[in-house]
Amino acid sequence: MNYVIGIDIGGTHFRVGLFDQDGGRLLVSEDATLRSGGRDWMLQQVRERSRVLTERADYTVKACGVSFGGPVDLGRQQVSSIHAPGWASFPLAKWVRENLNLECCLDNDANAGGLGEYRYGAGRGSHSMVYVTVSTGIGSGLICDGKIFRGKDNLAGEIGHIPVSDSGGVCSCGGRGCLETFCSGTAIARRGQDWASRRPEQVSRIVELSGGRAGKITAKSVIQAAAEGNMAASQILRESARWLARALLIIIRVVNPDRIVLGGGVAQAGGVLLDPVREFLEELGSPSIGYTTEIVLSELGIYSPLYGAAAMALDLIGAAPAGADS
Ligand SMILES: [Zn+2]
Repeated sequence: MNYVIGIDIGGTHFRVGLFDQDGGRLLVSEDATLRSGGRDWMLQQVRERSRVLTERADYTVKACGVSFGGPVDLGRQQVSSIHAPGWASFPLAKWVRENLNLECCLDNDANAGGLGEYRYGAGRGSHSMVYVTVSTGIGSGLICDGKIFRGKDNLAGEIGHIPVSDSGGVCSCGGRGCLETFCSGTAIARRGQDWASRRPEQVSRIVELSGGRAGKITAKSVIQAAAEGNMAASQILRESARWLARALLIIIRVVNPDRIVLGGGVAQAGGVLLDPVREFLEELGSPSIGYTTEIVLSELGIYSPLYGAAAMALDLIGAAPAGADS
């Protein structure tokens, strides 16, 4: 039996997991990311938690896969994120080799999440699958015939930065009118805050769920209020769902995958988001171009990238993937 370590480094949480060669999750060590701790704090956490899991493993740990929540230079196997202080150009795979003594493969969280769902989650049994992650930003991982489709510049799947409207604001990428400015978790929170300033009486429940401060409204509080039946919150989510449906229809038109798997923090909303997405997909679709692509929620939830990181590690040592078609 071969064991591997999967690591998921995100802006709000990080996770280190011990997996067996069938992708079985044996142990997970996770916590909130201390942003003020920067890169050194995170690396120390990863090193210590990996050491503890390795010590508790019944079999030898053979390799490590790392999912990073930001842009990654795949060729150099280093982080290329400019938004996370201290991480720019950091050779993370090399660090793992030298500090954990494990072969390592690094990828971004959208690709890792896609691979995780394809092998072990809602994408099992599909030939082509697109994983769409909606959280602070929006990304996607394209899986074609069992492999991550990357494109010439490793930029395939950057759906959050498709310009969908001339009317949108400036995006984190510097572009204007990107999908991400309309339906990411950040956009949902901003829309909630807009409502609070214009129609405070309608969003009192959302404000209450945000600790009583309109400026602290998050996507999570909007989603919770919508789940309770709050009209304004439902309306905010419907606006986002309409934009998301547009993006999913673009994916269907370009890729026509077997399945689209919705993941990321916002997708944890479940039906209050998925139901209007399905409704708008129907409305925006064409009566003459039918499709059978399924839209489903992720099965692994917040753990999709961690499972994907384990899958990357298993690929490194040539372990047979369970549940994969290829
Ligand atoms: Zn953008």
